[in-house]
Amino acid sequence: MSKEKLDSLLKPLVKKAIKLEPRANDAALAASCHTKFGGSPYAEAGDTWPSCPTCKKELTFINQIHDEIEQQLFVFYYCNECFPWGLGDEEKGQWLVRLYDEPSSSKIVNIARASNDEFAPTPCKVITSPVEVLPDWEGLDSASDELSDLCCKINDDSPWEEYEEAVERAGCLNDYATLLGGYPRFVQGEAGPVCPECNSQMIFYAQIDSENEANIMWGDVGLVYFFRCPEHKNQFQLELQCH
Ligand SMILES: [Zn+2]
Ligand SMILES: [Zn+2]
Repeated sequence: MSKEKLDSLLKPLVKKAIKLEPRANDAALAASCHTKFGGSPYAEAGDTWPSCPTCKKELTFINQIHDEIEQQLFVFYYCNECFPWGLGDEEKGQWLVRLYDEPSSSKIVNIARASNDEFAPTPCKVITSPVEVLPDWEGLDSASDELSDLCCKINDDSPWEEYEEAVERAGCLNDYATLLGGYPRFVQGEAGPVCPECNSQMIFYAQIDSENEANIMWGDVGLVYFFRCPEHKNQFQLELQCH
C-alpha cells in the first residue's frame, strides 16, 4: 500500500535527461558542432585558446555538448594544474564555459594550443540516449518532504534503500553518468549556487562523470556539476565533488 503511494508520489518528479557515453574515436579529433570529448574544440571567429589566470598555462579542452533543444553548444575548458573545485575564493578563469548559439560547421575557426597538453582527454565521439531521472536521496528533501517522510515511515533504518528501490521500479537511471539535464547525482551532498548577476538560484545544467574511455578523472572518481542561471543563460557555475 505505502509502496504504491510512494510510486505515485514519485511519478510527477521524473525528468528527462540525455545520457552521454564517450567512445574513443579519431573522428573526434577535428573541430565540429557535435557532442564530443577532447580533440579540437568548436570555436568561432575572435576566439583564442584560453589560458589560466593563476598558473598562466593553457587550459585543457575537456568536452563540448550540443544541446539540440536550445540549439546551443556548451564548450568546457579546465585547468588541471590548479584543479578548481568551483569555490567562491578561486580566481575566475581556472575553468571556462563558452556557449555558442546556433553553432554551425560554416562558423568553425580552428584554434590551437601553443604547448602540448599532457592532460588532454582521449578524443571520443559520444553515444547519446534519452533517460529518465529522479532526484538522489540527498536532493529528495528539497523536491518533496512528503516523499522522504514516507520512505522513513516504510523503512526507518535505511529509508534511502526504500527510495532507491522505488527509483528502480520507476525505470529511472540509478547510477552515476555524464548527463545533460535532469537532476544532479551528488557525491558529497547538495550544492545550489546562485547567479552572481541576479542572485537567483541556478538550475542544474549538466554533470560530467569521471570517464575512463576519455581518460578523464575528477579527483578520486568524482564528477563535475554545472548550474546555470535561468535568466542569464551565459552564467554557469561549476562544482567538483569526489569521494
Ligand atoms: Zn591554472
Ligand atoms: Zn542571473
